[in-house]
Amino acid sequence: MKSKRKFIIKCNSLLIKHFGIPKRNKKLPDPLDMLIATILSQNTNDNNSFKAYQNLKSHYKSWDELVNVKRVTIESVIRVAGLARQKSEAIKKLLDSLKKSRNISIDFIRLLDDHSAIERLTNYKGIGVKTASCVLLFSLDRNVCPVDTHVQRTTNRIGIVSEKSPDKTFFALNNNFPDKIAHSFHTNLIRLGRKICTPTKPSCGICPLLKICHYPDKNFDLKKEGSKRDFMLLDNVSN
Ligand code: SF4
Repeated sequence: MKSKRKFIIKCNSLLIKHFGIPKRNKKLPDPLDMLIATILSQNTNDNNSFKAYQNLKSHYKSWDELVNVKRVTIESVIRVAGLARQKSEAIKKLLDSLKKSRNISIDFIRLLDDHSAIERLTNYKGIGVKTASCVLLFSLDRNVCPVDTHVQRTTNRIGIVSEKSPDKTFFALNNNFPDKIAHSFHTNLIRLGRKICTPTKPSCGICPLLKICHYPDKNFDLKKEGSKRDFMLLDNVSN
């Protein structure tokens, strides 16, 4: 295979040809807003996590106000996102830690390089590499490509990486990642995973990457795109 960097650039241009250049927020959201939205998005769809995020924003004027709210109350406000107990615990622990440092903000990560920022964020309980990398991409416009289940499946099938876990894929994929394409590549891989390269029976016959994909078990039975879902939570988080 050609170098991984060139291969990613090729995949990205084919994905843009098919899906277009993904839109994004003109004003990037505050990192703490993004971190809380990403916690809410774990293991659920973007519509439900967006509703939970809006619920939090409409119930409380600021994250400072949320610091003094009981965990069970947060759990009830975010219930629509699913896994509400686990997510309310992560949010509460995060805010408690920030309260100890007397600043309900994670703006300090703006001064850190990508690696250090991910290390600092993943020190908070309940925050993993995917969540931390989403904050970097969607709030700070860093050139990192987060790995969710769609990105994990598609990058491994295409043959960009060969890794068993999303965290391993993240570090392999982002090592020497091509400049300025992380947002379009990440977003279009999610579209590919939702609509064409689905978990079972991918629609390889209509896939824009068919000619360069290394997946040995291609499926040619299905000839139309699946899910119409195109809403991306993390591009719709506002301050
Ligand atoms: S050719 Fe098939 S397996 Fe490869 S990326 Fe496209 S849909 Fe997925």
